[in-house]
Amino acid sequence: MNFLRMSELNLTDKVVLIREDLNVPIKDGKVTSDARLQASLPTIKMALEKGAAVIVCSHLGRPTEGNPEAVYSLAPVADYLTEKLSSQLSTPVRLNSDYLTQGANVKSGEVVLLENVRFNDGEKKNDATLAKKYADLCDVFVMDAFGTAHRAQASTEGVTQAMRQADKTVCAGPLLAAELDALSLALETPAQPMLAIVGGSKVSTKLEVLHSLAEVCTQIIVGGGIANTFLAAQGHSVGASLYEADLLDTARDIMTKTEILLPEAIGDNDMILDIAPESAKQLADAIINAKTILWNGPVGVFEVDAFGQGTQILATAVRDSDGFSIAGGGDTLAAIDKYQVADGVSYMSTGGGAFLEFVEGKVLPAVAALQIDA
Ligand code: ADP
Ligand code: MG
Repeated sequence: MNFLRMSELNLTDKVVLIREDLNVPIKDGKVTSDARLQASLPTIKMALEKGAAVIVCSHLGRPTEGNPEAVYSLAPVADYLTEKLSSQLSTPVRLNSDYLTQGANVKSGEVVLLENVRFNDGEKKNDATLAKKYADLCDVFVMDAFGTAHRAQASTEGVTQAMRQADKTVCAGPLLAAELDALSLALETPAQPMLAIVGGSKVSTKLEVLHSLAEVCTQIIVGGGIANTFLAAQGHSVGASLYEADLLDTARDIMTKTEILLPEAIGDNDMILDIAPESAKQLADAIINAKTILWNGPVGVFEVDAFGQGTQILATAVRDSDGFSIAGGGDTLAAIDKYQVADGVSYMSTGGGAFLEFVEGKVLPAVAALQIDA
């Protein structure tokens, strides 16, 4: 897919509106986990270096539209950005709450943060009038929020369409572009053998992912509660373990398309909660030999140390493999963090739901809207 990239545009004296995913946990007015904010900083810095007047917008949490509650304010994020951008800014990042009526009022070299877009009526419904108001604020719109790209909303897909109608420039920010590049590399033209690791608790949430991956992967390691359904589909007893009886035929169908590697399980009172170290080591060999690795879902209840060994062994193999590796999913990233293997993972996707939908082969509406002819 072809799209313009912010990195290739001249932004001198342009008013640039950047949609980021700044949806971070906040407690007592302070940001408690800043991974998403850190990820957005290079984009904002690049826009400043290019001489732009920068407007940043995002959603935060799930407020009721039209009812701006203080707990959902982006004010703590404005403070965070002011601190992190201090070497490039002469004035603090301003939080702007009345931009829909008063405009953004931003000059080159400044950053204005728009208050939570989900305070606005019509944001989630992708209201065209609201989208046009966002578009009216800027000369260039930069979509950089991969994690929200699977939903067509006014500050993502709607504003992109409104910009096009006004003959103004839309482009992908560096974070979104890197995400699309990595995912395309892993899924469109993967170096073979490609191996996927799909874990988690339920097959039903990973069914479409498994179907799509079965088309491109030489092997899929199926772990976690999902493995139980595959073991049961092969006629093995899974005791009292979690498995989905209505999905046995689907599991058999997936097994005809690709080689499914099933671990031997270890359990607790007949519950399968992790994979046995011996079989984890065999699976690790397959991971080491893969040229492309895609990982979504822990293969055990790794939150409990006693059931984390299998996930740790596989995570270490992903780190040690020379293949191109890509990982996504909230719990998967938590496992990568827990076992400190991030350095050896080629790309970690920032979008949970958007990552899964991309892997499923679905079109992400806010990405599709950026497409240009070759
Ligand atoms: P991600 O967030 O990376 O997409 P999921 O949400 O699909 O991953 O799955 C993660 C959850 O699956 C974890 O909370 C983990 O404890 C659980 N899980 C893994 N293995 C099992 C198992 N054998 N039985 C029950 N739950 C499991
Ligand atoms: Mg999860």
